[in-house]
Amino acid sequence: MPHVTGLRCVLCQTLYSPDDTLYVCPKHGNEGILDVEYDYAAISKFPVHPTTNMTAGMFAYRALLPLAAETPPPPLLVGGTPLYNTPRLAQAAGVTQVWVKDDGRNPTASLKDRASAIAIMKAQEVGAPIVTTASTGNAAAALAGLAASVGLKSVIFVPASAPVAKIAQLLTYGATVLLVEGSYDDAFELCLEASHEFGWYCRNTAYNPYMAEGKKTVIFELYDQIPQTDTRLPLTHIFVSVGDGCIISGVHKGLRDLAAMGRLAEMPQLIGVQAAGSAYLYTAWRHGEDVRHKPPIVAHTLADSISAGLPRDRVRALAAIEQTDGAFLTVTDAEILAAIPALARGSGVFAEPAAAATYAGLQKAAQTGLIGPDARVALLVTGNGLKDVGAAMQTSGQAPTILPKLTAVKKALEEHGG
Ligand SMILES: *Cc1c(COP(=O)(O)O)cnc(C)c1O
Ligand SMILES: [Zn+2]
Repeated sequence: MPHVTGLRCVLCQTLYSPDDTLYVCPKHGNEGILDVEYDYAAISKFPVHPTTNMTAGMFAYRALLPLAAETPPPPLLVGGTPLYNTPRLAQAAGVTQVWVKDDGRNPTASLKDRASAIAIMKAQEVGAPIVTTASTGNAAAALAGLAASVGLKSVIFVPASAPVAKIAQLLTYGATVLLVEGSYDDAFELCLEASHEFGWYCRNTAYNPYMAEGKKTVIFELYDQIPQTDTRLPLTHIFVSVGDGCIISGVHKGLRDLAAMGRLAEMPQLIGVQAAGSAYLYTAWRHGEDVRHKPPIVAHTLADSISAGLPRDRVRALAAIEQTDGAFLTVTDAEILAAIPALARGSGVFAEPAAAATYAGLQKAAQTGLIGPDARVALLVTGNGLKDVGAAMQTSGQAPTILPKLTAVKKALEEHGG
């Protein structure tokens, strides 16, 4: 790893060499998540112009990734996703500008591919023949897909209650899927035990120190894709939906990397959007609770990708909000459902519930005055709407069934508009 200077524990600040530990701070165990640090002065010497190198996707930023020089990237195109300027969404929300970063365009249709790409490369670096993770959905699909792309085996631990659509994606990629009779937490612990026992490479979120590093590349792309022709601050706020808190931690890391290299004039505010029924971090932030001691909550939301009773990356997620002067907010399941067609009709981007939550969050932030009419915001669309057609069908209206006759068309248009 040419430019990595060490791994720093988020709890005790001890700096480790990457050779000292594979995953977490030895003093703090599973809570001791490690942040990767780089020699930014050395990296700043390499100009990165990814728009001239879209075929590289996220690996356009390889100098800022914790990878050995010789490790080959996966054959799938990960990252390099489009960014859209959406004036109708901006008008509807009453802000100056809304950018939509469509990460549902990744190979397994979610932002999690950015992390799983790193996972399969690290597995190859340490010579692990099998990769593993515990997850209920997109992280597992991403790992199974990326592993399939290089012929690695994957073993996935999911709660037995996991949605069938996500299990179908795993099985199709050829993963060994183990349905654990228990919660996500049980699956998480079992996955850790099994990876120690069998020498598998473990991708678990907020345990593996390199996953947030993959996710941060979405920010490098975002800043490189916004036209720099205008001298105003390009972005005032970035909306990120939050479950375990690893994406928002990665987003914050990406911003901190840019700042460390002198490429960020001003830090945008991060807005963490949580489902009202899974609002551990919102509540802790609102009431000044210490997340190192706050017990788990019982999470209930139809946005399964942001359902987390005990967010695994809670320490860093809270820091991301506090250090950018940002905020957490909550949106109800009804607001999330309504945001799916609103986002799709205003931008052409079809998002799964957890991803559409950012648009629901934008509407709420504008209505409550958290952001003003001058705001220039970006929404991260973290997962594709085809991941959960059931949710979309609940909210997007109904289609009339008609006879194959023009008169029937006329009648249907009168009744349903057209
Ligand atoms: C995982 C995921 C999130 C939330 O990311 P966390 O790191 O758990 O906070 C949001 N949206 C989608 C589509 C996801 O897959
Ligand atoms: Zn520590």
